[in-house]
Amino acid sequence: MDWQAETFAIHGGYQQTHEGENSEAIFPTSSFAFASAAQAAARFAGEEPGNIYSRFTNPTVRTFEQRLAAMEGGEACVGTASGMSAILALMLGVLENGDHLVSSQSIFGTTKVLFSKYLAKLGIDTTYVPLTDYEAWAQAITPKTKLLFVETPSNPMTEVADIARLAKLAHAHNCLLVVDNAFCTPVLQQPLALGADVVIHSATKFLDGQGRCVGGAVVGTEALIEESVRGFLRTCGPSMSPFNAWVFFKGLETLPVRMQAHSDNALTLARWLEAHPAVEQVFYPGLPSHPQHQLAMRQQKTGGGLVSFRVKGGQREAWKVVDSVRMIHITANLGDTKTLITHPATTTHSRVDEESRRRAGITDNLLRVSVGLEAVADIQADLARGLDAL
Ligand SMILES: *Cc1c(COP(=O)(O)O)cnc(C)c1O
Repeated sequence: MDWQAETFAIHGGYQQTHEGENSEAIFPTSSFAFASAAQAAARFAGEEPGNIYSRFTNPTVRTFEQRLAAMEGGEACVGTASGMSAILALMLGVLENGDHLVSSQSIFGTTKVLFSKYLAKLGIDTTYVPLTDYEAWAQAITPKTKLLFVETPSNPMTEVADIARLAKLAHAHNCLLVVDNAFCTPVLQQPLALGADVVIHSATKFLDGQGRCVGGAVVGTEALIEESVRGFLRTCGPSMSPFNAWVFFKGLETLPVRMQAHSDNALTLARWLEAHPAVEQVFYPGLPSHPQHQLAMRQQKTGGGLVSFRVKGGQREAWKVVDSVRMIHITANLGDTKTLITHPATTTHSRVDEESRRRAGITDNLLRVSVGLEAVADIQADLARGLDAL
């Protein structure tokens, strides 16, 4: 189908049943009945396409997978129980004992634990490099390296990596480039078009967009997704539930307008924060003051929905801003219609040792805001209460 992304978001993967429903049905069934013993045998032998069992074939989950794959410009997609199980399914699907991966050091904290604790236990080692140090990426690659893993923009410092450049480096060494696209979503950034091989999602964030369900996805070529990743899912079982899939693909329908609105609010808020006398520094890819602003504007459609900033002072001043909010929710989640605020040093990054935290720029006076869809004047007023009092 030759549609644009906004149209795929609404019609991608649509399938109507004999009831003629306009909005997609949910198929809450664990297994599927066969017309005959011969058909059952043909399905299990892979000789006839069709549903078997919802651990690996469910029509509702398939609609989500096809819709997201179309939006990312990928051939195939697998929906998973969470963003973490999407990363796990990919890694165990494509890597084996003795393999090595190179990852940006500024990745989601739990992803780091997955690599350093659980993959390491299986003999798969990870080398971490600074996100924008391309020399370090190149030097970390060994003959055993199979995969480069990156999150851009990074959390919470919003640093931006050059996906096309990393893709070239990966391919020169016969490696896959994997991009966790949870922050931008395919609406703002299409890693596959820039040369990446695999896109990872935590559907929990912007794809749902209203903080309801936990889920994830892996997007890539048909060969890689169907053989390696769905094969893992079929056997190991961290599958997406039909209900969650339904919530997610209804979320995808409004994703293009939501991402634009999140970005508009975030840019307005970032500019306002930058001008506030109690704010030391603002980190937002959409601001000209951002170190990779040019690259971000080339690679992303907008700056996205996350803004981080340092208040003048330390943890006491940062916490004062957090504790003065009345509308904004204090939670470490992101990608919600509600504006959310978190103090990374004592929450999302509290398990990181102080030295690494300082090196990563996660100081005690840093706050991260996931900018929601409220009137931006109300978001500003809620933050101003604490900031004006500093
Ligand atoms: C939340 C998140 C994950 C993990 O996803 P879950 O759905 O919580 O398992 C992975 N990567 C990024 C960038 C995230 O923000």
